[in-house]
Amino acid sequence: MASETSAVIVWFRRDLRLSDHAALTAACADGRPVIPVFILDDLAAGLGAAAKWRLGRGLAALQAALEGRGCRLTLRRGPALAVLRQLIAETGAGAVHWTRAYDPAALARDSEVKSDLKARGVNARSFPGHLLFEPWTVETKTGGPYRVYSPMWRAVKDRGVPALLPPPGRIAVPASWPRSDALADWGLGAAMRRGAAVVAAHSSAGEAAALDRLDRFLGEGIGLYNIRRDLPGVAGTSGLSEYLALGEISPQRCWHGGLRARQEGAAGAETFLKELVWREFAYHLMYHSPQILSGNWRAEWDRFPWRTDPEHPHVLAWKQGRTGMPFVDAAMREMQVTGRMHNRGRMIVASYLTKHLMTHWRIGLDWFAKHLTDWDPASNAMGWQWAAGSGPDAAPYFRVFNPETQLAKFDPDLAYRRAWIAEGQRDPPRTALDYFRAIPAHWGLSPDDPYPAPVVSAEAGRRTALDAYAVRGGGA
Ligand code: FAD
Repeated sequence: MASETSAVIVWFRRDLRLSDHAALTAACADGRPVIPVFILDDLAAGLGAAAKWRLGRGLAALQAALEGRGCRLTLRRGPALAVLRQLIAETGAGAVHWTRAYDPAALARDSEVKSDLKARGVNARSFPGHLLFEPWTVETKTGGPYRVYSPMWRAVKDRGVPALLPPPGRIAVPASWPRSDALADWGLGAAMRRGAAVVAAHSSAGEAAALDRLDRFLGEGIGLYNIRRDLPGVAGTSGLSEYLALGEISPQRCWHGGLRARQEGAAGAETFLKELVWREFAYHLMYHSPQILSGNWRAEWDRFPWRTDPEHPHVLAWKQGRTGMPFVDAAMREMQVTGRMHNRGRMIVASYLTKHLMTHWRIGLDWFAKHLTDWDPASNAMGWQWAAGSGPDAAPYFRVFNPETQLAKFDPDLAYRRAWIAEGQRDPPRTALDYFRAIPAHWGLSPDDPYPAPVVSAEAGRRTALDAYAVRGGGA
């Protein structure tokens, strides 16, 4: 049985920060020694190449932040429950705290951990912090979860969000530290290969970087966010997604910042708050309908004749940013170079893959999971099913984005195209050339290649998709 003075293990997962950290704050509250831990279990080890590389950088930043306070991050590898039990045996810890996760695999893991530890007399406690609103606290008027975004926004927009928590003033440390793996030995960046050096220039990690990013956005970006957020050639969005994905910043801090900006009259603030609620909506859907991660949310789409060969030449052209559709290709290359993709780009490439190329959204979802540093299970699945038409509150199938008219509308001066597509430019910018440094050498691509003709033209793809839709049906 735990004593009143035994240590508390704080099990970090997707909450790599010290402020707004309810689990850490509670652990520090009564002065007991705190042992921060990160466990490389199958869920963390199974991340896509870019997300795993980014996790490594986030852990290095958390390690440095803890060490700056005379504390440490203990790194262990293995199944979470076994590792925690071992650590409890080694340290005599009487409690384990963590911030909740909501995807089905993490939920199953966490509930097993909680019941096992409790049965052993260990005070296992989970805390909120990854979301603004716990998914089970948001219900429609008739009860049950939301399936449509707008009513959920109306239901939560005036709800109170807890005040921000400062980082703990003092973190008491144990008399001796448990053994820790060395972060470098985990090789979290290995699968990124040569892409890592390129993406590193576009990615920063850690709570300090996240807070700085939010401050800059609130100071300079939020006023025009509603106008500029749709222009992929302009840095008009917050760029917070990679920090939110790993919990280097809390959604509460972003929310309070947005509220303050709205009070001060920033025109884009309401739109920013709405986007944060899109993230909440994605988690709400995933929590209540976890099948959204792998299967069509609308079962009638199961009979739709998607292409399912991930190596089909059209699919390869899509992956390599060589479809001959500049908007699609620019966005796919942006992802290879920066680890992120503008939201409009995500919508366009997802629509082109699922409609013009008639390819199953799961192929795109998996490709994103491999290449995004801001990969998030809920937002990625919702985004893909929205674009394909198979999700709740999805874009209707017959509304097929035309990548040419979209480019003319959202990239009128071709800044986005020029930034990412080198072929055909006399003096391509660094970003466009970096694409060729980031991609696998065996793709054999060069900036001196001619830019390809469209693999499927905007009009032909649209017709094929609509014909298939008419014959086989999908939506209502
Ligand atoms: P901002 O425009 O500054 O928005 C602020 C925050 O609001 C974002 O950081 C994000 O947390 C949230 N947000 C904004 N738009 C959305 C949205 N459409 N859905 C959910 N949350 C949103 N987002 C991810 O974080 N990870 C993913 O893996 C991911 N995959 C996507 C896949 C597809 C096919 C689509 C269409 C969208 C996907 N999104 C994903 C959502 C969105 O594109 C990104 O959140 C956004 O581009 C991140 O840039 P930002 O932080 O500058 O966003």
